Amino acid sequence: MARAWNFCPGPATLPEEVLSRVQADLLDWQGKGLSVMEMSHRGEEFLGIAAKAERDLRQLIGIPEHYKILFLQGGAMGQNAFIPLNLLGDRATADYVSTGHWSTKSLEEARKYCNVHIAASGESSGFTHVPAQSEWQLSQDPAYVHYCANETISGVEFSFTPDTGKVPLVADMSSNILSRPFDINRFGLVYAGAQKNFGPSGVTLVIVREDLLGKARRECPTVFNYTVQVEHEWAFNTPPTFPIYIAGLVFERLLALGGIAEVEKRNIAKAQKLYAEIDRTGFYKNKIRVADRSRMNVPFYLPNEKLDDTFAAEAKSQGLLNLKGHKVAGGIRASIYNAMPMAGVDALVAFMRDFEKRYG
Ligand SMILES: *Cc1c(COP(=O)(O)O)cnc(C)c1O
Repeated sequence: MARAWNFCPGPATLPEEVLSRVQADLLDWQGKGLSVMEMSHRGEEFLGIAAKAERDLRQLIGIPEHYKILFLQGGAMGQNAFIPLNLLGDRATADYVSTGHWSTKSLEEARKYCNVHIAASGESSGFTHVPAQSEWQLSQDPAYVHYCANETISGVEFSFTPDTGKVPLVADMSSNILSRPFDINRFGLVYAGAQKNFGPSGVTLVIVREDLLGKARRECPTVFNYTVQVEHEWAFNTPPTFPIYIAGLVFERLLALGGIAEVEKRNIAKAQKLYAEIDRTGFYKNKIRVADRSRMNVPFYLPNEKLDDTFAAEAKSQGLLNLKGHKVAGGIRASIYNAMPMAGVDALVAFMRDFEKRYG
């Protein structure tokens, strides 16, 4: 079977060129007689792979040396605990902005470790908008302010970087990192699971500003203590070597494409095309405030929810996979991360037109 268009929210589609490269390297990486999977994480080959991945990522995002880069296990949800354990220090409160499913998961986990102050919330609109900066009310002296840059399930995305003054800004960028440029200097910490936009599951990226290190609480698990991991440079415990290698191939490809500014142009074009089809007649509906619509995750509803299964099944039979919405949201969701080409969006739009003709 030929490769289908995979609209899965995560683990998500990877660039075909990257998968082919992995396949070619699998048994014998660069004539060394072994697979990357079989290499010591302390050997020069893997250290070379990891150093190049880090270099390329620094170049892509523009990350200065005083930000440290970690590739950890435990997923983005693990970070919901590791962030308070590492950053609270002697403070008792952290601020959270609540915009939907994933930011709620983050703040619920943080409540195990500190007082959580909700600085702003999208609840008034049923989480269909991003609360404007002017509505945010920070607490007196929070350890940090956390938000989710793209709510993967509802498809709500920040179009701006919040300004929190001197308070460190922490962002969950799991589902939109590397899809658009951002200024890392505005952040204290950014984290992202790889499996949406830059690799397979099993590795989580943490970019942390140096001055925030050294404050981990005693009960923070040592393998998730950022300071310990930074000090040991890949070698405190075994890092997820194979996912790091694949992420490195994705970074290399993004640089070859012209970097994040170029990738963003493609993402804008893909999202515009899909939302234009959704808005064309009123048969399909997206509930998110237009300015806050996600470029990565595009949920929409059919006139009748009984059609959801029909839509997903017919799409699947035409090679358009994983379009069913998340169980908490229902409807349909198309995830169109970096690795989804315009041709995939075109195929989906053509299917949507045809479906509307037959069921509209
Ligand atoms: C997928 C996702 C998560 C959860 O990631 P895990 O790696 O499964 O822990 C958290 N936040 C966002 C925004 C996500 O898209």
